[in-house]
Amino acid sequence: MKLLIADDDRVSCLKLASLLEKWGYEVLACENGNEAWERVQEKDSPSILILDWMMPGLSGLDICRKVREQAREPYTYILLLTSRTDKDDIIQGMDAGADDYITKPFYPHELEVRLRAGQRIVGLNRELLAARNALKEQASRDALTGLLNRRAIMERLDQEMVRRTRQGKGLCVGIMDIDHFKKVNDTYGHNVGDEVLLGTAQRIQAALRPYDSIGRYGGEEFLIIMADTSCDETYKHFERLRRTLADLPLETGKGPIAITASFGVGMSGSDQSIEPEQLIGIADIALYKAKERGRNRVEVEEGGSRPAEQQPKKTC
Ligand code: GH3
Ligand code: MG
Ligand code: MG
Repeated sequence: MKLLIADDDRVSCLKLASLLEKWGYEVLACENGNEAWERVQEKDSPSILILDWMMPGLSGLDICRKVREQAREPYTYILLLTSRTDKDDIIQGMDAGADDYITKPFYPHELEVRLRAGQRIVGLNRELLAARNALKEQASRDALTGLLNRRAIMERLDQEMVRRTRQGKGLCVGIMDIDHFKKVNDTYGHNVGDEVLLGTAQRIQAALRPYDSIGRYGGEEFLIIMADTSCDETYKHFERLRRTLADLPLETGKGPIAITASFGVGMSGSDQSIEPEQLIGIADIALYKAKERGRNRVEVEEGGSRPAEQQPKKTC
């Protein structure tokens, strides 16, 4: 485990570092508080700090306060080294955010066991963060296909729209709807229907570019976010997805099943302000047209900043 120590007394700093290294720690030694604070802010900085209280520049207490102000994750465990033994001083140190303190001169064994307590806290905090992240990830995924679920893909759309507007760029959103999917369920059963949904999701996802996003929008509908702005390019990308699905049947437990999908794409131009719901509304209109015009096809519509009832502006 990496550990940062800060002590302006060079000799004690070296002695402490060699002791800690003997115990197996990777030590980052700093000669004053300012240097320690700089190091603390670097990426992957140590999670345990041993700080001398009195140092020129930032004191150990100052660093404690600054670290706690940042509410850092993962947690930073701070042990203050102090020659002060007065109760009020210790209260002040703990109040500033120190987790523990040790008075100088210290017994090496005492420091060793106190550090072990610190390691336990840091370890527990890491486990907690990993579990929280896993839960968050799980909550954003669709259980059947593993794609982003409706809420998560809508959040992604909101973020992308904000980002694109800031950059003055357009965005397009496609709704992909599997054609005659009900027939698959009716003919082969619901389980095979599920296999088809999974197979479709995997095939389309594999065909997307790294900066595109896909999520399950509802039953057999998927939302695809792409960053292109030109009508031609957008059409080409979605046409490629359509063919990816249509050209090769999906393998299922009941043999290969030929699947096609219709794509309705809504585009916002770079100079147009448009709400995510409006863009999806435009994609919906395009999807309706794709279905009406025979299915297994892509329809692209461009929208602007006019009210939703006047959308779409242009068909390409
Ligand atoms: P269209 O070409 O007009 O889109 O026809 P469709 O049959 O695909 O559309 P419709 O809306 O009539 O039927 C969609 C079906 O999708 C109905 C529903 O039972 C089925 N479905 C929705 N979610 C799931 C699911 O998670 N698993 C399975 N197996 N079927 C699902
Ligand atoms: Mg549908
Ligand atoms: Mg359908």
